[in-house]
Amino acid sequence: MQDNIKIFIAEKNFEGCGGLAMTDEIRVTIAAYACILLLNRRHDFYPRLQSILVYPDSYSVPTTRLGPGQMLIEGQEERAGESWHTGAVVLSWSHIQHRPGDPAAHNVVLHEFAHQLDQEDGSVNGAPLLPKSSMYATWARILGREYEALRMDADADRPTVLNKYGATAPAEFFAVVTECFFENPRQLRDRHPELYEELKRYYRQDPAPD
Ligand SMILES: [Zn+2]
Repeated sequence: MQDNIKIFIAEKNFEGCGGLAMTDEIRVTIAAYACILLLNRRHDFYPRLQSILVYPDSYSVPTTRLGPGQMLIEGQEERAGESWHTGAVVLSWSHIQHRPGDPAAHNVVLHEFAHQLDQEDGSVNGAPLLPKSSMYATWARILGREYEALRMDADADRPTVLNKYGATAPAEFFAVVTECFFENPRQLRDRHPELYEELKRYYRQDPAPD
């Protein structure tokens, strides 16, 4: 794991944005979370990823959407992180550091690096490259069913173990499930045993204590 962190830091370009001065603490913290997702798996250190851009806090991104009468409405959106398929991950350092005491709280680094894994096969659809082709059918069946269940729970406003943001798209579902698998594994295993098994097979780890 320590070697992985060193290699990751040596291979990737870390850049401070918005006035953030890059430090070893920031590099090591991000690299450690990124490498948790690689532990025990055959991997090549997120081969498409070149740069990690870090802002001191959330940052705003200009957005456009279609309004009434096909009018383009320009706006701003605050973000704590994003993952680009063109080789970058963007993160807010304050969101990495100051996570609320709740262990199930959003882990933006695990989330964005799960998106990087999802993007390795060129499409962002909630299905990363699986080690065996025979795994895809079960993956699609179980994650598809669980995604639909989360959407229904979100619509009905029922309490869920998984963050309801995962109900917005299959890619977000995989990122949210990854966060929960590492941050809140016991609850995930108890409430969603089949989903937990799929993640366990993919990540080759069993983070839930017995
Ligand atoms: Zn996301």
